[in-house]
Amino acid sequence: MEKSLIDRRFEDIEENLKVIRENIAQAALDSGRTASDIHLMAVTKTVEPIFINHAIELGIDLIGENKVQELESKREHLHLEHCDVHLIGHLQTNKVKKIVGRVSMIQSVDSIHLAREIAKQSAARSVTTDILLEVNIGHEESKSGFLPEQLVDSLAEISSLDAVQVQGLMAIPPICDSETQARKFFSDMHQLFVDISAKKLDNINMNILSMGMSGDYRAAILEGANLVRIGSALFGARKY
Ligand SMILES: *Cc1c(COP(=O)(O)O)cnc(C)c1O
Repeated sequence: MEKSLIDRRFEDIEENLKVIRENIAQAALDSGRTASDIHLMAVTKTVEPIFINHAIELGIDLIGENKVQELESKREHLHLEHCDVHLIGHLQTNKVKKIVGRVSMIQSVDSIHLAREIAKQSAARSVTTDILLEVNIGHEESKSGFLPEQLVDSLAEISSLDAVQVQGLMAIPPICDSETQARKFFSDMHQLFVDISAKKLDNINMNILSMGMSGDYRAAILEGANLVRIGSALFGARKY
């Protein structure tokens, strides 16, 4: 890529990040919190390392990748000394071995079967893996994840797994026509988060409520998200 194009994209990222931070701060205030209560993740799928590193230079301290292989092919080019990596995409059981110990959290745990495999591979490496449980909050057939009404029973089972530590919940709500509709899904998620917290289950922490993407992170924060995952609003539209 030409130098001038790279510079222009650097500037775009800088400007986008400024706007995102302002929006996060405002939504945090509007929900009775402050900007520091909300963790911004930069979602880096399809983004070249040079631009990811620029975001890291601008203060991004958490990135999310969807695919094990894409992450591993980029990793050696990334400046991760002060930046954590989470896996946020669907994880096949046969890839668990490749990711355990390589990210600080797996946000996309969508079945007990997967949680068991992560526990097994973590134990084999003598590590504990932090996970979020992905909730299919819109009951969408096309999506994986725990159904809200199954969550408590599933948590009971997952809490018995020694080498995984549940840190909270993650969701991608259905595509909505209106902000009102989106906020209902986010508020349902927040209610689940609060209800599970109140149960004080052994070995289950409800520290992180990961929801909100480029199009709806303000709505998600207003309803209680404390981690938002933002890709295109930061890096520009993805080219596949
Ligand atoms: C791609 C992706 C995002 C970011 O989406 P944008 O709309 O580009 O912000 C967030 N979460 C998950 C799980 C994703 O796959």
